[in-house]
Amino acid sequence: MAYRAVANLREVSVAELTAACPAAARGARTRQPAAQLERWRILRDLLVDAWVNRDAPTEELLERHLGVLSRLEADLIARMFHNVRRSFPVPDSAEIDLEGRRFWFDAEELGATVPASVTFSINTDEGTEHVRLKTGRSRTTDAEAAVLWSAAEDGETFVDLMASTGEVEEIAAPPDPEALLTDLLEEHSQRGSGVRPGPACVWCRRAATCGAFPSDRPVSSRARTVNVTKTDVEALESCHRRVAWRRVHGVPRDDGEEIDMGSSLGQGRLFHALVGAAEGADDLRAAVDTFLAGVPPSEVAELRLMWENHRRLIDEEGLAVRQTEFPVGITLIEGEGAEAVGTSVIAFLDLTARDATGAPVAIELKTGNPTDHVIEDDIYAVGLRRWIGPDTPAVIHRHYVRWDPPTCEVVALGPGEVEAAAERLRRRVRPIHDWDWDDPLQPAYAEGPWCNGCEFRLTCRAYR
Ligand code: SF4
Ligand code: SF4
Repeated sequence: MAYRAVANLREVSVAELTAACPAAARGARTRQPAAQLERWRILRDLLVDAWVNRDAPTEELLERHLGVLSRLEADLIARMFHNVRRSFPVPDSAEIDLEGRRFWFDAEELGATVPASVTFSINTDEGTEHVRLKTGRSRTTDAEAAVLWSAAEDGETFVDLMASTGEVEEIAAPPDPEALLTDLLEEHSQRGSGVRPGPACVWCRRAATCGAFPSDRPVSSRARTVNVTKTDVEALESCHRRVAWRRVHGVPRDDGEEIDMGSSLGQGRLFHALVGAAEGADDLRAAVDTFLAGVPPSEVAELRLMWENHRRLIDEEGLAVRQTEFPVGITLIEGEGAEAVGTSVIAFLDLTARDATGAPVAIELKTGNPTDHVIEDDIYAVGLRRWIGPDTPAVIHRHYVRWDPPTCEVVALGPGEVEAAAERLRRRVRPIHDWDWDDPLQPAYAEGPWCNGCEFRLTCRAYR
């Protein structure tokens, strides 16, 4: 194994290596919101300016870089800038490489090379500290750390600089970086090129084009599209700002604020996590026991009861579970060419299954009382087509696992309902197409009881 940059090797990004879906990194994509990337770029430029022009007054620097931004965006970046200045002082005597640098792992026998970048490098008598500036919450992964350390020289160290909290965290070398990367590259080369939908689809820039969430017409790569979930479509009914801040502007959740979830909602999420962890395991009972060993003791009895009810319904109905958290959806496009705008609506089926005749069945696990399922039904009526074909009814079993006895409600959505369902969804998501991606304060907010569970409620109150 040689560690050097070789231009003619195929380049594989760390994100591509670790992505669950091979199609995510290849092929046409649409234009999607990039607020977080833009925020990162502006903060980086601001820091470079401040380090180069050490005598420039802070107000002047902030005005120069943030003056044209919306008030909220400018405040977010200014706060991160102050965090970095406070938590990461750079001595005057240090030499700063402001250009950023790429490190490479070359696996010539596998015909590939993997890059990972640092944002700045600080050279002092003690050595060189390479800094990865982060404006979100995700830290450097093991695979990225492996690339960095595979090419590090004596005296070099790496840190994550978390601008939103001001934390500086050392990036440690993973135990066996070379083996980790070689395994990932081997997996990658054997993976093929197929579409493999999963939880990452919500963040994927190919959602409108890869075919997993089909559109009724070709989608141009010039189209501007936004990915939203079923929960987002439901939330749109009450407040646009909340959905826009999540899906377009990437506004950070209120720091230190936990969503005030009623205990039943918290327990419902735990139950879904339990099903996700246990279904598909070789030994269901052992998987359940392991999961329950890690939850608060006060939750165990109720979760176990719901699990038993869930399995009882599955057995009574003769269902064979196939997959958990399976994404289905649709892409809705309006306008033409560069003017085209659209939304990929993505919902996650709790479980996919086959009944005793081999027919496909979707299972939704319900831990509360029956509510309005209009949006869910509409998404499934259109989104399940790719999975079950155009002529089969979409059959949904709603399993009420808290009821005594546990109860199943069966819904069959015929092919004839597809068009009307798509039209209703189109009407619901239309406001998204009018949002200004440069102005987080433009999408309207609407106060109501739903604000209690909103992850932005403090920030929202400060920007009205
Ligand atoms: S949207 Fe999902 S299925 Fe499509 S390319 Fe992206 S990750 Fe793969
Ligand atoms: S706090 Fe209320 S009004 Fe503000 S974004 Fe959240 S849901 Fe909307």
